[in-house]
Amino acid sequence: MPATKPRISFEYFPPKTEAGKEKLLNVTTPALNALGPEFFSVTYGAGGSTRDSTAGVVSSLQSSGIEAAPHLSFGGDDEAAIGQLLEDYKAQGISRLVALRGDMPSGMGGMAQLVYANELVEFVRERTGDHFQIEVAAYPEIHPQAESYQKDIEFLKGKFAAGADSAITQYFFNVDSYFYFLDQCISMGITQPIYAGIMPIINFANLARFSRNCGADIPRWISQRIEGYGDDQESIRKFGVEVVSQLCQTLLENGAPGIHFYTMNQVEPTREIYNNLGL
Ligand code: FAD
Repeated sequence: MPATKPRISFEYFPPKTEAGKEKLLNVTTPALNALGPEFFSVTYGAGGSTRDSTAGVVSSLQSSGIEAAPHLSFGGDDEAAIGQLLEDYKAQGISRLVALRGDMPSGMGGMAQLVYANELVEFVRERTGDHFQIEVAAYPEIHPQAESYQKDIEFLKGKFAAGADSAITQYFFNVDSYFYFLDQCISMGITQPIYAGIMPIINFANLARFSRNCGADIPRWISQRIEGYGDDQESIRKFGVEVVSQLCQTLLENGAPGIHFYTMNQVEPTREIYNNLGL
């Protein structure tokens, strides 16, 4: 393990119901916060569809003394609306953002122009100077709409040039894809930290479907092993924890600066994986 503690952060999505929000804030958060993360981030629904619920979870976390980082994208909003949201966040003492292009919600295609993340980073810097630590997204297995591997890294570099401080990756299960990507980023002059985004294996059918859309590869040996367990959920859980713990261990032992867990709003298996790392 590295001498300095790696940065650990946890990602939530805004729950759809009041009961879900209560559980997230009163049960999940104390359990995960006990692990000492640097911050919790909260996703932003496509096209701004969760603007209020993202802001609601962020302010509840922040007002209970936990550092919260809202995800943000222009979606269908104009500069006035996003500028106001930035002011509101600033007034609440929020000092970190995850700036994204986002995706168009289904059914809204063509109604609004997607704004690339580098333009949002530029806008945040223009409006709020150095107030926010800005995180952006990076894709070790390359964004599904990227023109080429090289171009995708050039655009990542553009996000840093616009003022981003660090990046968090899309989840991946191939450790080599991450380290190869870091090497390529360095060779193209990127010096900022790129934190590894890690997805615990919770519901494999959903994960497989989602992975096809977001361009994350599930190695055949993992899917074959899980399929072989059939309905034996306990074996799938154990195998998932073992595989993902091993992935995190390898990442940290080989210089990844930290891990961002896509918790899916659940304490487990993120906590079990974290505990296996002996941090
Ligand atoms: P960009 O960096 O803008 O890139 C999008 C595509 O355009 C890429 O193919 C890139 O190669 C290309 N490109 C980039 N810049 C330019 C340019 N200037 N000119 C031409 N082409 C360009 N989605 C949500 O809806 N809500 C969330 O909260 C959310 N959180 C995320 C958090 C993380 C850590 C990650 C990795 C992803 C997240 N996503 C989220 C998914 C993300 O919104 C999608 O992957 C989206 O398709 C791309 O967003 P981006 O910010 O990476 O886009």
